[in-house]
Amino acid sequence: MRKQQYLPLAVEYTQELLLVFGKDGDVLEANQSAEKELGYEKGELCRKEILSIFPAIAECTKEKNMAFFTKEELLNTNAYRKNKTCFAVDLRMVILDRANWIFLVSAVNVAKRDSAIRRLERAEEESDQIVRIRNEFVSNITHELRTPLNGILGHVRNLLGETDPVIQRESLELMEHCCEDINQIMNNILNFSKLESGNYILQEKEFSLQKMIEQVMALHMEAINKKGLQLKFMIDDAVPKKVIGDEQKLIQVLNNLLSNAIKFTLEGKIVVEVIQTLQVKDCVELFFVVLDSGIGIKEEDRDKIFQSFSQADGSTTRKYGGTGLGLAVCKELVELMQGSIHVESEEGRGSTFSFSVLLRLPRRKRIEESRTEIQVQSIKNNAMSFVKEAEEDRIYQYGTLENQSELRKELDKMLLCMDMENWEKAEQIADSIKKLVQGGEEEIRRAAFRMEMAARKADKEKAMAAYERIENDFITEKGE
Ligand code: ADP
Repeated sequence: MRKQQYLPLAVEYTQELLLVFGKDGDVLEANQSAEKELGYEKGELCRKEILSIFPAIAECTKEKNMAFFTKEELLNTNAYRKNKTCFAVDLRMVILDRANWIFLVSAVNVAKRDSAIRRLERAEEESDQIVRIRNEFVSNITHELRTPLNGILGHVRNLLGETDPVIQRESLELMEHCCEDINQIMNNILNFSKLESGNYILQEKEFSLQKMIEQVMALHMEAINKKGLQLKFMIDDAVPKKVIGDEQKLIQVLNNLLSNAIKFTLEGKIVVEVIQTLQVKDCVELFFVVLDSGIGIKEEDRDKIFQSFSQADGSTTRKYGGTGLGLAVCKELVELMQGSIHVESEEGRGSTFSFSVLLRLPRRKRIEESRTEIQVQSIKNNAMSFVKEAEEDRIYQYGTLENQSELRKELDKMLLCMDMENWEKAEQIADSIKKLVQGGEEEIRRAAFRMEMAARKADKEKAMAAYERIENDFITEKGE
């Protein structure tokens, strides 16, 4: 018979953890996989107690419990590493030497398999929920559109037989109202689908914050007065008068929050407040609060309302109408402006929606500030500050050598994070990639944005697609 040449080696390298132990429970031999997975050095496992690794086999090693060995039963249990962390295994025990009471434990790490199954189950649950929510949405939206549409139809029929110009005008005004409602619904749907596909680009320009907020409030004054609500508006002194950002998107978020506050408040007050929370170089973080004394939101519904097509509960739709898209759009817009949105609420007592956004300061203000900064710096070390600023500017200018080498580094890190599915880190890196490609073509900027969104949602496929898009550009540019 041929001598077994490779089998001992195969035993070392098999994926299974193999450990031989004796009557007293001490490990006698262990293969490399066991040492590696359990975090031990070579030979270190010998004389360790088998029960410190697989505590659950205590029952099986009792002399009476022979059934376990004869049936070759699989035990689903935990294996404990040297550092006391554990992972799930399918374990089998065999008696190797009955006379000397020597056993073999063979265990397969099933943690990865189990977590894949759990992920699959979760994905199935989520997709069921999405289907349910989308069905609800279709029925809501149909209802929402049908109301103004029926209104228009009714008024058109009236107009056909109406000769009185006063009544004609009234009908036309009501029809105008209905058209505005339809427009609003369509805009929300359009915005939402644009945001979902990552096709949204912020239009940055200088604007006055105070004017913008006053303009939003003016739009709602009629509804506020009609309901007899009080409206308070406070803007902190530290908030800059002029900022650079996407004014229309900010208006859209505020509009949405304010119209919800009015819609869900039957009496009492609504407060709008703006404060500045942070200033780093030419960026300011502003924090907006919209508070109402309305019906409030149940605790279990608070996360749900930011999901697309979701409303706090079905009866809300019937009573107050709406499509459940407004807050989902707000969330996406706020995140696009590098902020976040939250709600605090007490059922029956009101809600406080707050969100932050990052905006830039106009050049004038930046120059003024950097002047003071430079004056201070010059006392300490004038030359250093200039060199540093100049360097930063160069690095962030898209296409320069420094920028490209930074980008290369970040792209490599991104790939690693995506491989390891470290999405928190991936999101951070995607954010710096987004900054590094800021001066680039629209396509590449969009891809960086999509990559950040995908990282935020831990969507590997989308993140990878966006990554490849940037990488492609990078390679082409380098090749030229
Ligand atoms: P909708 O068009 O249905 O109002 P939104 O996304 O704007 O869609 O809001 C989703 C749901 O969140 C609403 O249907 C409502 O149940 C709840 N909601 C939003 N704002 C408020 C508020 N200020 N007070 C109470 N409930 C609110």
